[in-house]
Amino acid sequence: MKMFNKVPKKRCQCCNRKYPELELTVRSSILGAVSSSYCKECIEQNAECEWIIKYHIDGKADLADWVWDIKVYKKGKYYKLSDYILKFL
Ligand SMILES: [Zn+2]
Repeated sequence: MKMFNKVPKKRCQCCNRKYPELELTVRSSILGAVSSSYCKECIEQNAECEWIIKYHIDGKADLADWVWDIKVYKKGKYYKLSDYILKFL
């Protein structure tokens, strides 16, 4: 029965990896009122979508202390926000 083998997959909007739809959680960004789907690993890593980071950070260094706990998934790994800014912004 071919149809039962096709579990729909969707992308985690944070790391862009594909998962079965039911393994993704839609929640608000920790940086603002924007909802996206996150996989379990991104939630556990305290990761945030790259576009949301870029929109809010924009090269600023005067950020609240708790913001530095956020991670960003890029090129196959999670980066601490400070490392991400140095490497990619
Ligand atoms: Zn993810």
